[in-house]
Amino acid sequence: MRIRTFAAGLLVGALTLTACGKTGSPTGGTGDNGGSAATLPTYPVAQNVDVAGSATYAKIKSKGGLTLGVKDDQPGLGQKDPTTGKYAGFDIEVAKLVAAGLGYDESKITYKTVDSGAREAAISNGDVDYYVGTYTITDKRKGQVSFAGPYFQAGQSLLVRKDETAITGKDTLKGKKVCSVTGSTPIQRVRDQSLTEPGNIVEFQKYSQCVEKLLSKDVDAVTTDDAILKGFASQDKDNLKVVGQPFSAEPYGIGLNHDDSALRNKIDDLLQAAIDNGTWQKIYNATLGQSGSPASPPAIQRY
Ligand code: GLU
Repeated sequence: MRIRTFAAGLLVGALTLTACGKTGSPTGGTGDNGGSAATLPTYPVAQNVDVAGSATYAKIKSKGGLTLGVKDDQPGLGQKDPTTGKYAGFDIEVAKLVAAGLGYDESKITYKTVDSGAREAAISNGDVDYYVGTYTITDKRKGQVSFAGPYFQAGQSLLVRKDETAITGKDTLKGKKVCSVTGSTPIQRVRDQSLTEPGNIVEFQKYSQCVEKLLSKDVDAVTTDDAILKGFASQDKDNLKVVGQPFSAEPYGIGLNHDDSALRNKIDDLLQAAIDNGTWQKIYNATLGQSGSPASPPAIQRY
């Protein structure tokens, strides 16, 4: 299904993510996703690429490889295996597919974990060449960085303990301890909409820290994008659940240098091609789709 308007895309994406509750492991495997096989595609490495006018691409070429900013604790999206040191998930695959389109296979990628609050600085300082990690496109962030995409539509939601009955949606959070991450759009929304009292907002650098505090009963809910929360819930179905309807639109972009429109256009082309040739869907089905929620690609916007 191709979504025609941006607003419709946000709505459909958010609803699709909430609508379904099948189970499966969040990465790899052969979980149930509409009967489709869940094998990750391989990405043909483009030859003789040039991205004329891109300062970032010139730097990538002179280094002979890429440094990519990602998350390391988000199941199904961007997660680092502590034993092997390997990164896996939907965002990691998107990062790899773009790298291949730029002429570099995975052996030329150095992943750098950058948490939500450090993204704008890491991109504008040139610490990363581009960033793929549940990064919502917002006007405020567009003042500092630019975005290719969107390549996914998420929406803010709530994660609670399995036996929780009082928290059922965003308007049931008053008097409850709510955890989220520094520099994220969800924590800002909790403040802006006074969803709970300022003293009840608990803030960490990583969502996995919030989930630990939820399990140890130090907080009552974790709030961020449904895509992230569903990944955590699918890893610990006995103890966690996602509740309520998504209450925001979080279109994910690939963050890159503010002034590099040449690279942004190139990445938009690569994302569009991956959507058109079915690669996007294969990646989704083999990663985040394993947590039980089908999704379709959004429309690339070309900001
Ligand atoms: N997508 C939201 C954001 O960019 C929340 C997820 C995150 O912190 O990465 O702030």
